[in-house]
Amino acid sequence: MTNPGLRQLRVELGARAYPILIGGGLLQTATWPELIRGRHVLILSDENVAPHYLPLVLDRLQGKTVVTRILPPGEPEKNLGRFAQAIDDLATLKASRDATVVALGGGVVGDLSGFVAACWMRGIAFIQLPTTLLAMVDSSVGGKTAVDLPQGKNLVGAFHQPAAVIADTQTLSTLPDRELRAGLAEVVKYGALGDETFFAWLEAHADALLARDPAVLAEAIERSCQHKAAIVARDETEQGDRALLNLGHTFGHALETADAYGRLLHGESVAIGMVLAARLSAELDMAPASDTERLATLLARLNLPVDLPAGANPGQLLDLMRLDKKNLSGRLRLILWRGLGQACIVPDVDEDRVHACLANAAMERASG
Ligand code: ADP
Ligand code: ZN
Repeated sequence: MTNPGLRQLRVELGARAYPILIGGGLLQTATWPELIRGRHVLILSDENVAPHYLPLVLDRLQGKTVVTRILPPGEPEKNLGRFAQAIDDLATLKASRDATVVALGGGVVGDLSGFVAACWMRGIAFIQLPTTLLAMVDSSVGGKTAVDLPQGKNLVGAFHQPAAVIADTQTLSTLPDRELRAGLAEVVKYGALGDETFFAWLEAHADALLARDPAVLAEAIERSCQHKAAIVARDETEQGDRALLNLGHTFGHALETADAYGRLLHGESVAIGMVLAARLSAELDMAPASDTERLATLLARLNLPVDLPAGANPGQLLDLMRLDKKNLSGRLRLILWRGLGQACIVPDVDEDRVHACLANAAMERASG
């Protein structure tokens, strides 16, 4: 990949503001090691990422006392056991308050690292070196950190902002196609929820994105991060607006939980979930059905799923949606839209309409 040029933005959070750098080769060229104040560094990564990129990172940390923990890949590793091990690593290092945690990997490594950093001595610095498209455009920005419990995803966590996000787009060269496409679902989300111009740009550049054109990918990442950074700056702890980022996620999380075999990636279930949110909005006469079509068409061009999986059970999905963290006092609270680029929070959606929407989608799927 050629260097598409450095792009830089900031998440404006007063004393906790931080930069996001996007570009090819940044692991080697950006000055992120200068942000590390103390001597102690814990690096968390995973077995798919570390062989490619850990040497580059270690090379930048000469003179520091570094401990590295490399996890098997996958969401099940984002658990309290791994959290305890990483805390043990910091204890063994005799890490002081000026220690730093470095996350080198996708969202799993990033969420776990951030939570470790949030908890050690009530909060130390951490640096995000995201290596998946999804982590670059979404999970590495905004300070949501967590681990999963058997009872549900992200149930134990904290808001803890990183000191910097360094998105080296060259790392995407080894990312499997399917993971890249799953990340594109979250990119489409930013257009769908608040920026029709960006959505149209994505329509025009769908082929270039799939072909991993470096400049086009870098622009998509930058524009996504601009949206994320702006929303996080307005509403850091999700008291209001930040919930819009969950477009497609209540449906999506239900699909992920119902999918006992783990066939769907997060981004894939979000793609289906966004189409369901758009369909429901149209069925509630909030939005034109033609916008649902436009969304489904773009997602399908990006080789993302847009239909309910075979055998999906509307009643079960509705039950799972009732468990969503966004619900308040037993009301179904969903992110829907008034049309492309106009997502909105609907606090009290009629469950029968949601069930009917899921049943329609299941029926259409069955009839091909
Ligand atoms: P996400 O960022 O999508 O939330 P993960 O952290 O689970 O999710 O990463 C998705 C998968 O991609 C994992 O199997 C991870 O090991 C792998 N992976 C992450 N980054 C890279 C990369 N740059 N090259 C190859 N594989 C990667
Ligand atoms: Zn998501």
